[in-house]
Amino acid sequence: MNDASQPKTLSNRTAIVTGSTSGIGLSIARRFAAAGANIVINGLGDAAAIETERAGIEADYGVRCLYSPANMLSGSEIGEMVKLALDTFGRCDILVNNAGIQHVAPIEEFPDDKWQAIIQINLVAAFHTIKAALPAMKEHGFGRIINIASAHALVASPYKSAYVAAKHGIAGLTKTVALEAATDGVTVNAICPGYVWTPLVEKQIPDTMAARGLTKEQVIHDVLLEAQPTKQFVTVDQVAGLALYLASEEAASMTGAILSLDGGWTAH
Ligand code: NAD
Repeated sequence: MNDASQPKTLSNRTAIVTGSTSGIGLSIARRFAAAGANIVINGLGDAAAIETERAGIEADYGVRCLYSPANMLSGSEIGEMVKLALDTFGRCDILVNNAGIQHVAPIEEFPDDKWQAIIQINLVAAFHTIKAALPAMKEHGFGRIINIASAHALVASPYKSAYVAAKHGIAGLTKTVALEAATDGVTVNAICPGYVWTPLVEKQIPDTMAARGLTKEQVIHDVLLEAQPTKQFVTVDQVAGLALYLASEEAASMTGAILSLDGGWTAH
């Protein structure tokens, strides 16, 4: 996957992928670069590791790749990230709102600061990125906004009140902006993955063990994979493949869609 011989369906395109220093976002950034797009990566992490990743994308795919350190908690830093893409490349054709965090706790014990951060990073940040990027997309008559939501945009699980609220919110934001931009060549869609094996999932295992009184193996098999009829984790490559389709010319009529990619979870 993500190999340099992939057809260059995104050449001359510029993509911003938030939260692309890890997991799903990194896979999407690499897939878009493999398809010829210039990329702005973003996210937290060790500076040297991020620079290695950034330089690796340029070397592997022959595109330009910039890093924006914008914290998704800050509307002004998000504005700077979009400005970086526009000032450097003159356009921002594709915006992937992917950055996200999770916290697992019963609502009576849910820390206020965790609630605020989850709503801010998983939902409010997408309002700011879209607000900043949409005018240039409209001006060029082309745009692809891809929101990485979750099966939790469609159904709930206990102990994830902030995450489920944010993800249901992003489904509503997706549909609303799709309507507002429908005649401008700009599509807005949400991908709703089931459980994907990334650091975000790995990190919630200890809290889920505590909240439900289970072992690690029980959490993986009886909570996570229990939700998915395929009994398989979704892969980051599978999410990147759908994102690539949504970013393509062919996907021009797909807008306002909330797309499940969850091994059958929400078919229950
Ligand atoms: P991850 O932890 O591997 O990556 C999250 C990314 O977001 C990282 O690059 C991190 O640095 C970045 N990030 C976190 N806080 C940030 C902040 N304040 N500012 C900027 N960047 C920040 O997680 P992942 O599993 O790849 O998740 C990516 C997205 O996919 C999230 O929105 C998540 O909710 C969604 N998702 C994940 C799963 C799953 O099972 N892993 C399932 C459904 C949806």
